[in-house]
Amino acid sequence: LPGGRVAVVTGGNKGIGYAIVKGLCEQLRDQGVVYLAARDEKRGQDAVNRLKDAGLNPRLLQLDISNPKSIERARDQLKVGIDVLVCNAGIAFKNDATEPFGEQAEVTVATNFTGTVHTCEKLFPLLRPHARVVNVSSRAGDVEKIANSNLKTRLISEDLTMDELKKIMNDFVSAAKRGTHKDVGFPNTAYGMSKIGLTAATRILQRDIAKYNKNEDIIVNACCPGYVDTDMTSHKGTKTIEEGADTPIYLALLPPQDGKSDQSVPKGNFVAERRILDW
Ligand code: NDP
Repeated sequence: LPGGRVAVVTGGNKGIGYAIVKGLCEQLRDQGVVYLAARDEKRGQDAVNRLKDAGLNPRLLQLDISNPKSIERARDQLKVGIDVLVCNAGIAFKNDATEPFGEQAEVTVATNFTGTVHTCEKLFPLLRPHARVVNVSSRAGDVEKIANSNLKTRLISEDLTMDELKKIMNDFVSAAKRGTHKDVGFPNTAYGMSKIGLTAATRILQRDIAKYNKNEDIIVNACCPGYVDTDMTSHKGTKTIEEGADTPIYLALLPPQDGKSDQSVPKGNFVAERRILDW
């Protein structure tokens, strides 16, 4: 598709990701191609078929964000370049899950934080000029949940490095396994900590974008979709998936910013309901 735009949405087979794929297909129409990325090919193909029945034309991409080989295979298929990358895939244990907290912390951080960061690190070299990246984080990842003030200061600091952040997330998982995470000031939530890490990572990725990609005007943001009626929330969320997709799609389609430095345009920010929030 020479000249056409290329969009990729992880976890596109259901929930908010599915609505993001649908919305991007509707907005881009014949101006581009939208890859519905799914870890499971059958669930992905079923979702692609449903959208085709609705007159849209997404393409299937196999991508398990927790499997580096799978990310590399996806990267090789996307060689032409990427204009929009929405890292939406994520997991949450249910409140009544019986797995020990340490295991929940390890699995949740491995997917929501490490998997998403690996996806960004491996796909960022493919971003084209004016590319937009959206990491679907959460208000549950509120840095105020960090009781250790030194740790909180490091997480919000402008010189936090990705290596330092990865170490902090590893420390959280190790402490969770020992049962000492609360004693050292980490929050008692695996999901919340994974999203704190993801929002912190997003700020670093924007700040260090030149390390990954020399193209101009690349914008990376994190967002919260709101409380959405999906499998993750056991369908208790109050927003429809289309409503949940609104802010991610808005961020995915931010117009070119050539030379402008408009403070009202989100860039390396945490955004909900299309507004920049403090983090
Ligand atoms: P769902 O559980 O409905 O969908 C999650 C999607 O992520 C599925 O497609 C799932 O695939 C995919 N996924 C999970 N793990 C992986 C993986 N390792 N590799 C690739 N894909 C994976 O959740 P939602 O739609 O509700 O959530 C989407 C995002 O929004 C998540 O990041 C979530 O944390 C965030 N969020 C959701 C809120 C809500 O109220 N729903 C609130 C705040 C944030 P599969 O079908 O194969 O399991």
